[in-house]
Amino acid sequence: MQRAFCLVLILLLLLTPAFGFASAPVSPRTVAKITQVRWDTYTDGVTGTSSIRLSFDVSDSVQVTAQNNVAPLPQLVVNIIGAVPEKIASSINLDTKIADKINITSSDGQNSKITIDLPVALNDGDYKILTLPGDLNTNKPFRVVVDINKPTPPAVFNFTSGLKGKVIALDPGHGGSDVGAVGPDNIQEKTVTLAVALRVKDLLEQAGAKVYLTRNDDRDVYAPDDSATEELGARVAVGNENKVDVFVDIHANYFGNPKVSGTGTYYYLKSSYDKLLAQSIQDSLVSADGLNDRGIYAANFYVLKHTLMPAVLIELGFLSNPNEEKQLNTPQFQQKLAQGIVNGLDSFFNSAAQQGGGN
Ligand SMILES: [Zn+2]
Repeated sequence: MQRAFCLVLILLLLLTPAFGFASAPVSPRTVAKITQVRWDTYTDGVTGTSSIRLSFDVSDSVQVTAQNNVAPLPQLVVNIIGAVPEKIASSINLDTKIADKINITSSDGQNSKITIDLPVALNDGDYKILTLPGDLNTNKPFRVVVDINKPTPPAVFNFTSGLKGKVIALDPGHGGSDVGAVGPDNIQEKTVTLAVALRVKDLLEQAGAKVYLTRNDDRDVYAPDDSATEELGARVAVGNENKVDVFVDIHANYFGNPKVSGTGTYYYLKSSYDKLLAQSIQDSLVSADGLNDRGIYAANFYVLKHTLMPAVLIELGFLSNPNEEKQLNTPQFQQKLAQGIVNGLDSFFNSAAQQGGGN
């Protein structure tokens, strides 16, 4: 058997054209190179519009197409036909309020796809793509230029006092395939966050507010085993699409040292109200739950940054702390937490109204 196999192999090798019979050389199709990426943000002195300009140097003239994706993730995709990236980073973090990140890929060695991740979806008038011819005299290469204007005018706030008529998004952290943190007694974060959020919803509705939950049962909001950005993007969309007044993300904390304890609240400073919302909720929550006051922190979390309205992420307590794990799992304590959050929201709207309520 083995000898027969060997013979077959030799015959195959002899019959292969490359073995002895060179095939006619094919002249390679010329493919241009994308050699440099530059970007800059600027603000129009007259209109006050902020924008970002991405500029791609290309070694030859190319064709460009684009598509503006609203869902599942807000992205602008620019296809450069007949050029591939050369010695440039395949991923660039822009980390601005207009665009998050660029990814440059070429799956066929002929064309490139530039994916621009955006904090919020663009309207068609919010971006422009142009090509600029190369100029031998000034030594300028051919360029593909993508201009993106800051898409949505900043949300207009008009906060009045009281909870009646307010529209609030509640995001019970994790869910479905993502259990979140798990305490020593196996209490899962996704269960605690949902239980508390449902109680907050009831209390808010009793006070006359309208509530949107990102999930009202044990499930992934976007899809099971999805990526973090898809999942978080879907949660943010519940707030942005329903134009809620504030967005409240509910989590429970975890740390290696089981003694670490307490309640903390995070915000991202994107309006004059985010910090006020965090402080209002933190103060009321700590006085309701009696846990260690860890204070408020500025944090660059996806949901805080991508929501258009004031938003907070609450870490109720530590599941890694056996005492807090027990408390977080009891209905009585969950009710205290819920009442603390609702009192904090009420106090936020009152303080915001006192400050004038506008932008
Ligand atoms: Zn969490």
